[in-house]
Amino acid sequence: MNTGDLRIDQGWLLARLEALAQIGATGDGGCCRLALTDADRAGRDLVCRWMRELGLQVQVDPVGNLFGWRAGIGAADLAPVMTGSHIDTVATGGRYDGNYGVLSGLAVVQALNDAGVTTRRPLVVAAFTNEEGARFQPDMLGSLVYAGGLPLADAHATRAIDGALLRDELQRIGYLGSAPLPLCRPHAYVELHIEQGPVLDADAVTIGAVRDLQGISWQALTVSGQSNHAGTTPMRLRHDAGYCAAALACFLRRLADEMGGSQVATVGALTLHPNLINVIAARAELTVDLRNTDEALLRQAERRLAQFAADLARKEGVAIEARPLARFEPVRFDDGVADLIARQAQRLGFRQRNMTSGAGHDAQMLARMCPAAMIFVPSVQGISHNPAEHTEPGHLAAGANVLLHTLLELSC
Ligand SMILES: [Zn+2]
Repeated sequence: MNTGDLRIDQGWLLARLEALAQIGATGDGGCCRLALTDADRAGRDLVCRWMRELGLQVQVDPVGNLFGWRAGIGAADLAPVMTGSHIDTVATGGRYDGNYGVLSGLAVVQALNDAGVTTRRPLVVAAFTNEEGARFQPDMLGSLVYAGGLPLADAHATRAIDGALLRDELQRIGYLGSAPLPLCRPHAYVELHIEQGPVLDADAVTIGAVRDLQGISWQALTVSGQSNHAGTTPMRLRHDAGYCAAALACFLRRLADEMGGSQVATVGALTLHPNLINVIAARAELTVDLRNTDEALLRQAERRLAQFAADLARKEGVAIEARPLARFEPVRFDDGVADLIARQAQRLGFRQRNMTSGAGHDAQMLARMCPAAMIFVPSVQGISHNPAEHTEPGHLAAGANVLLHTLLELSC
C-alpha cells in the first residue's frame, strides 16, 4: 500500500472520544476531570489500556506525564517523533479540548498498525499532566517540567486549590512514575487541538497550521483618587478614579487599533469604590490583558500604557499603581514543521490557513526543546471550556489525517 493513501479510522476515533467523555461526564455533554482527581485516574487508566491494546510501551514519569512508545526500525538511538496533548479538563470542560490530540495520536498508531506500516523513528503519544491549571498552578505544568522550565521538586510541592499536594495526589492515583525526565528529546513535536476560537469556523477553513502563539501580559491597576460630592465639587477640583479608569480603558482600545497586527488589549474587570451614584470614586481597580505575537511589540504596548498612566496620574492628581499578574513571552513555532502541516493539508484536499494560537498549549513548552508546531481544527462558534464545545466529526477526522501524514513524513 502507498502510505500516501493511509487514513485514520474515523469510527475508531469517535468511539474513543465518546468513551473518554463518559468519565467525569457532567450530564450536559461536558466533562469534569480535574488533574489528578479520581476521574483523571479513571481517564488515564482507560488511555493506558488503549495504548497497551495498540502494542505501545506505556511509561509514566515522576510528574505523571504519560507516554505510549511505538518502536521504530531505524538505529536504536534515533530521536522519536512525539505527538500529544492532555486529558485533564476544567470543571466545566468540553470533550475535545486536549483529549482530541491524545486520542488522535492513538488513532494514527492504530492506522499504522492496521496497514502494517513501520517508521524509521519511534513514535510517541504523550498525555501531559495538569495542562489546564484548573486544580494546580501553573497551567501546562507537566510539559513545563518536561522541558526543564520548572524543577520537579517545585512541581511536587505545588498545592491544589483544595489543599492537596501534587506529589501526594500522583502517588494516590498511582501515577507517580519512574520513567526518565525528560523521557527523550524529540526529533519533532506536533500537537493537534481544537481551535478554541472562532476563526476557522467563521471562515469555513478546515485546517489551521499554527505558526506562533501569542505572548501574554497581565497586570492589575489601582487608581487612588479622592471621593467627594458629585454635585458640589467643581470639575477642575476633582481627583476622579472612575474617570481615570475609563480613560485607561479607552486608551487601551486606541492603542490596540493604532498598533494593529496581532495586538489585542482588554480591560476585563473593573471595580469602583465606593461605587455610588452621587459620589466621585475614590478608588478604581482594573485588570489589563495585553497580547501580541511579537515580544518587542508587546513590550512597546506595556511601555506606552505605563507612560499614559503616568501622564494621566499627574494631570488628574491621582496615584496609579501597576501590579504584574502574569507574563509569558510569545512563542514562534518551527517553520519547517508548520510548512509540512500546511503541505499535507493541501495534499489531502482541505482548505487551510496559517494561524496564531491565542491560547496556551503544551506545544509551547515542547518548542523549547525541539522543532514543534500545532494543527488546529474548527470549534463551532469558537466555544470552548464549555459543555457546548463541539467540532464536526468530519473536521475531527481531517485533523487526525493531517496529523497522520505529518508524523509519517517526520518519522520516515
Ligand atoms: Zn487544551
